[in-house]
Amino acid sequence: MIEEMGIMGIVGASFAIMLVVAARKMAVKIDERIEKIREKLPGASCGACGLKGGCDALAEELVKDPSLLGKCRLVGPEEKREIGKILGIEVKEEEEKKLPRVRCTGESKILFEAAGERTCSAFSDLAGGPLACPYGCLGMGDCVRACPFDALRIENGLPVVDEERCRGCGLCEQACPRGVIKLLPKETKVLLLCNSPASGKEVNASCASGCIKCRICEKSCPVQAIKLDPLPIIDSSLCNVCGTCVEKCPRKVLKLGVAPLASTPPMPSG
Ligand code: SF4
Ligand code: SF4
Repeated sequence: MIEEMGIMGIVGASFAIMLVVAARKMAVKIDERIEKIREKLPGASCGACGLKGGCDALAEELVKDPSLLGKCRLVGPEEKREIGKILGIEVKEEEEKKLPRVRCTGESKILFEAAGERTCSAFSDLAGGPLACPYGCLGMGDCVRACPFDALRIENGLPVVDEERCRGCGLCEQACPRGVIKLLPKETKVLLLCNSPASGKEVNASCASGCIKCRICEKSCPVQAIKLDPLPIIDSSLCNVCGTCVEKCPRKVLKLGVAPLASTPPMPSG
């Protein structure tokens, strides 16, 4: 009996050793850098980086491809440098903070009163939407709902951004079916409040405001900082913020930037 127990013990011990050896051989080596990087990421898991698993997924991907660090707009410069150290790469200087700008005055004519699901994407799909301007803001707040930081609200039919809360993740820009919201450098000197590439004739027919491509801004700018293509593009490196274009624009769709976001004009009227 004692002899049998001894054999059983030896067999048992052999199995235990084999299991330990097998477990060691089969164990997946966890990259310690992933956890360290994860601690430096914002933890919002907002999805702005485009990865389904949010910050966890980004941490895992970063050890394979450090260039993805730029995908997360919420990581501050200090954290970027620290992640760079963990990855053994040099992180370039932080780019200028960007904020969402609302490029619409909200003055398009209304073609019909749309009923049903009140989302911008649903309205936009509905025979092109209820606005005469196919590029105008629908004001139903898809952008507001997309913001994970509660930084947007609709006022007088247009989104307004709370600059303190905004983290510049760009999810509002992605959510807008009209391309009304554009992320631009915070220090943009002159803002354009129109998104329509349509001709002046078409804009005139659809909107009480809106850029009519008259080129007055381009011609009047004393430092040639404006080029139309088809909307005015303002070169901030040339613009001296003299305000001439803002003053001369017959449609009042230019305004000096470095200031609150969208204008808050009256509700669109028919
Ligand atoms: S900006 Fe775009 S998403 Fe936001 S309310 Fe206007 S149309 Fe809708
Ligand atoms: S002056 Fe105003 S309406 Fe004319 S092209 Fe410039 S922005 Fe457009």
